[in-house]
Amino acid sequence: MAEILKGAPVAAAITEKLVTRCEALKTEGITPCLAILRVGDKPSDLSYEAGAIKRCDKIGIAVKKIVLPEDSPREDVLGAIRHINETDTYHGCLMFRPLADRETELMAIDLLEPSKDVDCMTAISLTGVFLGMGKVYAPCTPQACLEILDYYGIDPSGANIAVIGRSRVVGKPLSMLLQSRNATVTMCHTKTRDLAGICRHADIIVAAAGSPNMVGVDFVREGQVIVDVGINVDATGRLCGDVDFEAVEPIVDAITPVPGGVGAVTTSVLAQHVIEAAERKAGK
Ligand code: NAD
Repeated sequence: MAEILKGAPVAAAITEKLVTRCEALKTEGITPCLAILRVGDKPSDLSYEAGAIKRCDKIGIAVKKIVLPEDSPREDVLGAIRHINETDTYHGCLMFRPLADRETELMAIDLLEPSKDVDCMTAISLTGVFLGMGKVYAPCTPQACLEILDYYGIDPSGANIAVIGRSRVVGKPLSMLLQSRNATVTMCHTKTRDLAGICRHADIIVAAAGSPNMVGVDFVREGQVIVDVGINVDATGRLCGDVDFEAVEPIVDAITPVPGGVGAVTTSVLAQHVIEAAERKAGK
């Protein structure tokens, strides 16, 4: 039986520390505030937004929602970003992608003030992550994976880690963060040959492919740690990860569940970045 690496205690530990830091800021008259920019009403965005607001409420972080209709013209989207940049009381910005068309999205990301980029959208933030520089905010989901490993005492240093997925949001930055922690990372994707063999060889597998239950018994062996980032709906309509949990759990040493694993930690990391942004702005 594997150890189940639940996200809830990790999120609770992060949240507890943030409540104290938020109170300290408030005694100085500063209310940390997250601006959320959403274009349209995608159900997955609404669900993440609700989780983020709940987490911020718990900590004492204010949230300002800016919601535009799906067919908003480019100038409105860029205008919303300018407003967020110019509003001193907003410390961080979460934008849901896609933001209108691809070109508008790239322009919007370029426009965002890097000091408010709490989910690592801008090129400056990504460069910071890729160079291992400490002054930027890492993307929340990859950082949530590291928070889980740290909380459960799993050291990536020296470990062979297979990361399945190379997206800009999860796979690529996570691979870089793990390398910064001295892991030997193999970044896998749809064209990777012998994916199952590479995964079997790894000490830790991080699955971030968006492919329901693709990591099966042929990918794993005893002694491994499995981090499942995937959030999918299977053929029966059930929420599931990228890992076939029932098949893999009896074999490996430790595994994150879906739901209740990485996803449960992501909003705490977001809140942590907002508090940090408010502290930095206050010169702390
Ligand atoms: P994406 O579609 O942008 O990227 C998927 C990556 O996986 C691509 O690089 C692709 O090459 C690779 N891939 C896809 N199928 C594969 C296969 N069969 N074999 C090998 N590689 C494969 O997705 P994303 O935005 O990176 O998200 C990945 C998953 O993580 C999704 O299920 C998403 O819902 C989930 N996610 C979870 C959280 C969270 O907080 N837990 C946050 C963001 C995304």
